[in-house]
Amino acid sequence: EGLVSAYASDAERDAEVSVRPKRLADFIAQHRVRDQLDLLLQGAMGRGTPPDHILLSGPPGLGKTTLANIVAAELGAGIRVTSGPAIERSGDLAAILTSLAEGDVLFIDEIHRIAKPAEELLYSAMEDFRVDVVVGKGPGATAIPLDVEPFTLVGATTRSGLLTGPMRDRFGFVAHLDFYSPDELDALLQRSARILGVPITEEGSAEIAGRSRGTPRIANRLLRRVRDFAEVRADGTVTRETARAALQVYDVDELGLDRLDRAVLTALVDSFRGGPVGLSTLAVAVGEQPDTVEEVCEPFLVRAGLLARTPRGRVATASGWRHLGRTPPNGTFG
Ligand code: ADP
Repeated sequence: EGLVSAYASDAERDAEVSVRPKRLADFIAQHRVRDQLDLLLQGAMGRGTPPDHILLSGPPGLGKTTLANIVAAELGAGIRVTSGPAIERSGDLAAILTSLAEGDVLFIDEIHRIAKPAEELLYSAMEDFRVDVVVGKGPGATAIPLDVEPFTLVGATTRSGLLTGPMRDRFGFVAHLDFYSPDELDALLQRSARILGVPITEEGSAEIAGRSRGTPRIANRLLRRVRDFAEVRADGTVTRETARAALQVYDVDELGLDRLDRAVLTALVDSFRGGPVGLSTLAVAVGEQPDTVEEVCEPFLVRAGLLARTPRGRVATASGWRHLGRTPPNGTFG
């Protein structure tokens, strides 16, 4: 399992849930989004109505699911959780919508993957709190209108660009989550270590923060791996030395790139002389889906300045070449 995949196991998920912040005040960093959400929620609670629908976009592991749960907690509302790929038929969605209690939060992860008929049903639910359920087929089919209790949809997507216009327009609040800085991840790690009861030095936490790919989920996961190492091979305290030694065992480099990130960069440099090369060709070269390369690897490689997206395709930057210990050819971008 790569470090970026959602969960390696149930135990990993449980460990993740135990450090998941429950309230807005405990959510680290992302100050703009937090401020905006706070206003949205306070305003709605003051009026006694459910807030506008909320769209959260950004790469995996940056806190979208966490924020959806926080929205429900702050509102004192119930939450129903589903995902775009899980809603195969519009009837599935109609059943969920009509079973919501007043003020509930409905969280739909990967909302850009929702099937078209279900998406259209969702429009009327979002806008008018009403759905038309079609009964029967052909000329005898009839639409039965059903009421839906006022609710707040929280949609999450790694690809806001893939949402249809009508869908995007129905969200009154849209926020983009960006990668976290090492300092922010440092604060996050200190908090997680406190909750998990892991002794950690400032240098130990900084070392992990710098190698967490800007991603809270990865920071927390690396903390658990380094804790294992510290407990088994040292005195249990996470220090710079135990962190470095452990991360070497787990194949995490100084920038935090994992195996797939490095495979993409290596293919770009070795097989395509640094590019430009098209996304699908690059994906085939590393044996991955183009979506995974584009949604999971590239945002961080771009952010780290190792890869650039150009109109002619993907290229390795000079820093990308150097990160692999190679000399960039003359004229290499960046
Ligand atoms: P996403 O839904 O965007 O993939 P999650 O909300 O599942 O990401 O976040 C992954 C984990 O990272 C969460 O379980 C939580 O523990 C942690 N996390 C994410 N963002 C924050 C944050 N801002 N502050 C503290 N912990 C966070």
